[in-house]
Amino acid sequence: MPDAPTIFERIIAREIPADIVFEDDAVIAFRDIAPKAPVHLLVVPKTAAYPDVAALAAADPALLARVVAIAQQLAAEHSDGDYRLVFNSGANAGQTVFHVHAHVLAGGLTEGSLG
Ligand code: 5GP
Repeated sequence: MPDAPTIFERIIAREIPADIVFEDDAVIAFRDIAPKAPVHLLVVPKTAAYPDVAALAAADPALLARVVAIAQQLAAEHSDGDYRLVFNSGANAGQTVFHVHAHVLAGGLTEGSLG
């Protein structure tokens, strides 16, 4: 039996609302529901095939590069262009949603702004 859809698949399917700031055919980005910085966005490949960044990097480096480019674009649009990019990988590192996503943190970062 396939795994249950993650919360991000439900956002992509518009089953639950999110404050979406970017979308194309392969990637969606929306505001984190519990922001840890003045600007805290999540950049999410739409495919549910990859649980973490290492899996994405191994299977589809072009899609990972697209995620990074979109993160940079959004940091420029929503803040001063400087940003912290965080991929939590594994439960012991704080990962709670096992559908690869980049945290984009910007706009007055503190040491606590680690995603
Ligand atoms: P992780 O801990 O897996 O690296 O990041 C998951 C992130 O998803 C967390 O920062 C959490 O606040 C965010 N999140 C969890 N559920 C929702 C939701 O329903 N909507 C939005 N916009 N963000 C969510």
